[in-house]
Amino acid sequence: MAPQPTVTDGSCVVPEWYPSGWRLVRAGRGPGSSGASTDRPSAKLALMTEAAATTARSSNLPDKPRIFSGIQPTGRPHLGNDLGAIRNYVALSEKYEAIYCIVDYHALTHVHNPEVLRRQTLEMAAALIALGLDPDKCSLFVQSDRPEVTELCWLFNTVTPVGWLQRTPTYKEKRANQPEDVNHGLLTYPVLQAADIVLYKASLVPIGRDQAPHLELSREIVRAFNARYGETFPEPQAVYTEAPVVLGTDGVKKMSKSIGNTIEILAEPDVIRKQVMSMVTDTQRILRSDPGRPEVCNVCQMHRHFGADYREIWEGERTARTGCVDTKKLLAERIIAHYAPARETYRALMADPLRLRRILDEGAERIRPIAQATMTEVRERMGLR
Ligand code: ADP
Repeated sequence: MAPQPTVTDGSCVVPEWYPSGWRLVRAGRGPGSSGASTDRPSAKLALMTEAAATTARSSNLPDKPRIFSGIQPTGRPHLGNDLGAIRNYVALSEKYEAIYCIVDYHALTHVHNPEVLRRQTLEMAAALIALGLDPDKCSLFVQSDRPEVTELCWLFNTVTPVGWLQRTPTYKEKRANQPEDVNHGLLTYPVLQAADIVLYKASLVPIGRDQAPHLELSREIVRAFNARYGETFPEPQAVYTEAPVVLGTDGVKKMSKSIGNTIEILAEPDVIRKQVMSMVTDTQRILRSDPGRPEVCNVCQMHRHFGADYREIWEGERTARTGCVDTKKLLAERIIAHYAPARETYRALMADPLRLRRILDEGAERIRPIAQATMTEVRERMGLR
């Protein structure tokens, strides 16, 4: 059964619920997965979700539903990050009360060099702002600047069965990726994610459809807490974002830093030219006079995002009026021109780390009352005060 969208608007679809496939996989595992009625939020929790968007909001924040997303501090973003995620963050911050967190605590599970972590955290912050996130329209902050989340994570650990975490596909994947460093943080990673979302009483989380299982575990942890200590948190719900999957310069795999097939949109123009010129095009087009197949050519597909005339460009390829090299050169120049203002802003921010830190500090300060109110409530419910 496909999820039933309740809101559809431009880039975002807010679903009523998750794909049934996942519910079947999880059936019987958690306190909230034992029957049909608990597959959906109870009427009370649904009301709380609604209410959380209004009552947990502090007066200096805009009057919109609250959305939360965490972003890994992976340094300067690539084209896939922008088209696949950052553009959506910007769009969502217009419509929702958006809280965006650069998750340096999470990054510690695999980044162990303090200088690298510090630099990449600032690079990600500068890049997000340069690519359009307006810190006045959202709360952009660094996870460790609101350490309340580590306390909530510990408290959530005590309601989360180890088996749930051990069965998480991402845990298995991460273990396989770093067999020499299977630290406890990898196991607890989803608990910290759950704490991140609900500490700020966010009711909505923007995710791609493939990420629904991650959010489902957060929901189960919240259900486990509510079942033991009374209904405290709304179960976070997904805002499904429609985003393209951008293939890398190899034309086969998803663009990713770990594979090294990226186009670094904020890099110097010459770096971008080199990366774009290295792109694999239609492998069946051998001679300049061979007709191209724009529908399978990654360069042609990328042109969709950089000009309304992409169909004309495709036609040129199809009729061999233009060659792959021409099409790549044009793409490189368009990417360079498109990101030129962002590149300037990024440079200026990186040259002024104090200003950047101030912006991030302001973001963390703005959400402090929400985090503190949540922790007071939670401590009381758990018998800590
Ligand atoms: P990377 O490690 O390559 O920087 P991440 O896994 O940290 O990528 O992803 C950060 C965000 O960017 C995620 O929301 C992810 O879905 C999105 N993203 C990453 N690569 C791509 C891609 N090639 N196409 C579309 N979205 C992408």
